[in-house]
Amino acid sequence: MWAMIDPGPARQVTEDHVDEYGLRLVLLRPPTAAGIGAIQLRMGHTTFGEIRFSLCGPDRRAVLVSVEVEEKHRRRGAGRILVAAARARATRYHWTMLPLGEDPVAVAFWATVGALGPHNPHPCTHQIDAQVVPAESRWTQWW
Ligand SMILES: [Zn+2]
Repeated sequence: MWAMIDPGPARQVTEDHVDEYGLRLVLLRPPTAAGIGAIQLRMGHTTFGEIRFSLCGPDRRAVLVSVEVEEKHRRRGAGRILVAAARARATRYHWTMLPLGEDPVAVAFWATVGALGPHNPHPCTHQIDAQVVPAESRWTQWW
């Protein structure tokens, strides 16, 4: 069923265009320019999952913060659609991701879907100001 969705930005809607019944990718714009925004996969009032990420247009940097799919909706491709939807908003950006950690579900997910970039965040100064990356992850080797 997810295969029927076009993940392209032209097909993503904002909250004011959400309708009651359709399967939709809903764009939640960030509160500040380089802050963390999200795309949710929803059917009517049910949210299947959400991807959170930050884009900085001037610096062409994209940082993937998290992907979450409700446990009962996993293994049906929702996560893959969310990743494709985020990637489609920033095709020519330099993508990095937060450290992967040990969670076997996350490790398996990214092995299947394919990472958008290294699990080693490389935020620009705007993204650091917007606190996109938690302080502890700044100690990885991105400089
Ligand atoms: Zn920037």
